[in-house]
Amino acid sequence: MKNKPDNFHFQAKTALNNPSLQQALSKATTHILNKRARAIQELTDLETLRDRARRIKEQTIAQLNHYLLQLESEVRKAGGKVYWAREARDAQRYIAKLVKQKKAQLVVKGKSMVSEEIGLNEYLEKLGLEVVETDLGEYIVQLAGERPSHIIAPAIHKSREEVALLFQKKLGTNPEAEISKLTQVARERLREKFFQADIGITGANFAIAETGTIVLVENEGNIRFTTSLPPVHIVLMGIEKVIPTLADLVVFLKLLPRSATGQKLPSYVSLITGPRRDGEKDGPEELHLIILDNGRSRILSEPALRESLYCLRCGACLNICPVYQKVGGHAYGSVYAGPIGSVITPPLVGLYRARALPYASTLCGACRDICPVKINIPHMLLQLRQGLSYRWNRNLINPGYWLEKLLTITWSMGMKDEGRYRFGSKVARLLQRPFLKKQKISHLPYPFSRWTKSRDFTPLAAKPFRIWWEDNQRSSKDHERAD
Ligand code: SF4
Repeated sequence: MKNKPDNFHFQAKTALNNPSLQQALSKATTHILNKRARAIQELTDLETLRDRARRIKEQTIAQLNHYLLQLESEVRKAGGKVYWAREARDAQRYIAKLVKQKKAQLVVKGKSMVSEEIGLNEYLEKLGLEVVETDLGEYIVQLAGERPSHIIAPAIHKSREEVALLFQKKLGTNPEAEISKLTQVARERLREKFFQADIGITGANFAIAETGTIVLVENEGNIRFTTSLPPVHIVLMGIEKVIPTLADLVVFLKLLPRSATGQKLPSYVSLITGPRRDGEKDGPEELHLIILDNGRSRILSEPALRESLYCLRCGACLNICPVYQKVGGHAYGSVYAGPIGSVITPPLVGLYRARALPYASTLCGACRDICPVKINIPHMLLQLRQGLSYRWNRNLINPGYWLEKLLTITWSMGMKDEGRYRFGSKVARLLQRPFLKKQKISHLPYPFSRWTKSRDFTPLAAKPFRIWWEDNQRSSKDHERAD
């Protein structure tokens, strides 16, 4: 069964009860965070860079229409084709048409979260195509029949032993094989596919409006192969990926690899402007750029959530998030996990369906502090919670609504005058007695047990503060007199 955003609590519980997942997540996130911390220390102008990056994103998103049209025109000038896809199915259909035209049988893919978002692999496989993920992490999750659990490290949830067993089952390798050996086997398999592929599909880290250039950063060289060996290259990008100029790219290239993998620069940075030109040896004969909306305009029209479109998909907020560190990406039931996923998913799939995600946060603010473009994720999560509570308050057939109302009315009546307040706190102290054990309340009857199932309930102090204060004053006066 595929994980879903409406099943977050169950999925999170399952993840918490999986010791191997806990170990893999803790090891990987600690490792990436340490690497990032070292790489960031070298930047003396970090804050200036973050502010510049944010400003660029702010200005671009404010004039998105202009930059997207400029990008379209430059890509066409460079010989590429551009297709605007309003929804996932528009992009799927365009790719299916191309596949048919080219009589394609094998598609290789470089890591693309947008293709995950539109369920492209399943769609193409239904059409009878062989689809091969070429990023090692993606290749692993594809072999396992799973989804990526992290934007940057898709197989972060798997231990070395699990990968070795998977490779043994699917590729016939030795289960004791070292990581280097497993990588070599994967590389050999993938290399064959690159040479046979009819179409290469990638995402885009950035698309530069002034030159029509697609920018891709990677470490394994698979994107280079995917974009240059097959005769057709399809780029699938969300509307938010456009940036105005090459000079802006410099700012982002200083921040993105450091935040994502703790590197000064990734091993490969590919800048692709149009398909292969006359006289060039490498590159595809055709380049198609699909610019996808798929709900992003809705985010754009929502001032409270707009800044989520500044996201570079570096994954740093996932690594630092105490919730993600414990439950991992699959628990979110969405392509986009972690703090930024909790913001993006509700407008993409519907607030009610993803209603648990805005609460999958401690609001500690670590995601905002680590974000290279200073996206205020906690603020957006609060906005989403506010939207949900508004909806909840209008849901008259919900018993929780009436219980909450009853408690609020009782509370406000009790707080209206001193006598009622004193009487109320006396009653509450009496009522809490049967549940009090070692100054803690760990078990309350239903419906309050929903709270105490996972945390203690703080009991009222044995002595009210007012009495404590009066006693204290009295004893200090007695002391003074005695002196
Ligand atoms: S929200 Fe910020 S930290 Fe999180 S993935 Fe996006 S850019 Fe990175």
